[in-house]
Amino acid sequence: MNGDYFFSFQKFAYVKGERPPGCILCLIRDRDPSVVDLSVHRDPLFIVAVNLYPYNPGHLLVFPTRHLTDLRDLEPAEEAHLARLTRYLLDSLDKLNAAGGYNLGYNMGRAAGASIDHLHLHIIPRFPNELGIADLLAGKRVLVESPLETARRLRERLAQEPFSNPSS
Ligand SMILES: [Zn+2]
Repeated sequence: MNGDYFFSFQKFAYVKGERPPGCILCLIRDRDPSVVDLSVHRDPLFIVAVNLYPYNPGHLLVFPTRHLTDLRDLEPAEEAHLARLTRYLLDSLDKLNAAGGYNLGYNMGRAAGASIDHLHLHIIPRFPNELGIADLLAGKRVLVESPLETARRLRERLAQEPFSNPSS
């Protein structure tokens, strides 16, 4: 693990080889064979995927199936759906890993650090005994679980209690 990891954790390295043209989240939505599919939930309005370079195990990306770039472009039905889906995911992550807390947020626009423009919500589990910032800057951050394994476990977890989805 090298020192860039801390700074690049928001980048979407789903790409198996050369970065294909087009939006990476739209490619995941379309199940394009050129990207690693770490999706754990799909419905008509939203997709949830494990970040291939997670800040922590269980780091999720929640994004609308529509290619939107601004939070304010969500329709009211999408906002309501997203609120329910977020609660569902937090409950599911609680059961999966018993995190001590969560960071939730958007980076909207390049100036804010978004590496792609398709709107996406980060859900990042936080744990009481994480490495400190000095360890991160020294490139010592250690992944304790492969994102592929996280995706596998989370798919199992979600299958046990599927998202109930009255709006779609
Ligand atoms: Zn897109």
